Amino acid sequence: MNHQTSIAAQPALENIPTGSIPQHHVGCPRCGLSLSIPTIVPGDQAQCPRCHQHLVRVEKYPLDTPMAYASASLMIMIIVYSQLYMIVDMFTLHVDLTLPYMLSSLAQQDYSFLAEVMFLLTFGSPLLFLLLCLYVYIGLYYQQVLPGMLYATRTLVRLRHWIMVDVFFIATLVAYIKIIGMAQIHFGLAFWLMMVLAILLIRTSQGVPEHWIFYQIQTLTGNDPTLIKHSEHTVSCNYCLFEQPAAQNICGVCGSFLSRRKPLSLRISMAFLLSAIILYIPANLLPMMITRSPNSNLASTILDGIEYMWKDGDILIAIVIFSASMAIPILKIISMLVLLYSAAYKPLMSPAKLTILYRITESIGRWSMIDIFVVIILMSVFTSPLAKVTPGAATVYFCGVVILTMVSALSFDSRLLWDEAKKTHHPYRRRKRHQL
Ligand SMILES: [Zn+2]
Ligand SMILES: [Zn+2]
Repeated sequence: MNHQTSIAAQPALENIPTGSIPQHHVGCPRCGLSLSIPTIVPGDQAQCPRCHQHLVRVEKYPLDTPMAYASASLMIMIIVYSQLYMIVDMFTLHVDLTLPYMLSSLAQQDYSFLAEVMFLLTFGSPLLFLLLCLYVYIGLYYQQVLPGMLYATRTLVRLRHWIMVDVFFIATLVAYIKIIGMAQIHFGLAFWLMMVLAILLIRTSQGVPEHWIFYQIQTLTGNDPTLIKHSEHTVSCNYCLFEQPAAQNICGVCGSFLSRRKPLSLRISMAFLLSAIILYIPANLLPMMITRSPNSNLASTILDGIEYMWKDGDILIAIVIFSASMAIPILKIISMLVLLYSAAYKPLMSPAKLTILYRITESIGRWSMIDIFVVIILMSVFTSPLAKVTPGAATVYFCGVVILTMVSALSFDSRLLWDEAKKTHHPYRRRKRHQL
């Protein structure tokens, strides 16, 4: 049964092109399956035959492509953060919005928490991610081990989840539909380039395979992590996937903490989830946005906002905000409860289905930030005494819900689902033995 990898061809060892990884053993980070993957040459990818998790995907030009994408992203990012984002004309008011202006107006009006969240998710994380990418790839390009290269790689991998330029772009479109009835809006160069930046960041992130990078760094130091074969005395690293002696505490390839399963994963994940559930109550009861005008002072909760939009005929926005602010957090909380119960007690579905559920849960959570970003944009636009928007207390709680559910999902070790299924049904035991 040739089920160990999606790659068909395996070149002879002496013909392996540079930038390849020879045949070696890895552990799937999603389902825990130990498998041997054949030589990975540039342009190849390997995925787990059991849960279909991508294990490694190497670009055809493994050094040039990520460096080109990262450099282009960095240049576009400089333009996005220095040019006009949006021009708003309303009554006698004319507002030229730039992204730094939005941040400074948040900070000046004592909403520094929101300013920090926006700064980190739309500027800090992507900038650090790109700089670390370039740093690591410059080291690989010049065949030099630069100081802290392993740490830089581990950090850039973790930063991927916290880049939300694409979410901010979609939030701008939602805000645009909300504002268009009251004001004239023109988009600046920064807005259009933000769409390009969002796409480039996704592409850069896809083109930076940590498994391959860690291997390349190790070969520069004269080590070959592919020499360690799977056995009962080895454990595969959660982060770089290479097999390591089980007696070690720290992975010799990537420098992460080494364990068969993430320690206390279920308890940590549950603790974050419970905190998110608690914060979700004030996030819904307290006002999300306060709209002030000479005649009225309107505080609206998330649900009020959706209702106003629906009644005003902005059904599309009502659906977007409902999905981002109500449906996704609730579904995410329910999914995490199902996953935690399945891993701790009894699987409620097959491990394959639970893994798909986990993958969806992990990837959709960030989209809940749409509503927060919409409030930030509206607040930057409506600053005059005639119409002023300020964020309500719910924004802080809601940010907490989004971040805590994301951390809860990231802390969860999905391999426990397969462990539990094996204990209760034994459906995979024979297959796994065969593969080993
Ligand atoms: Zn797998
Ligand atoms: Zn490792």
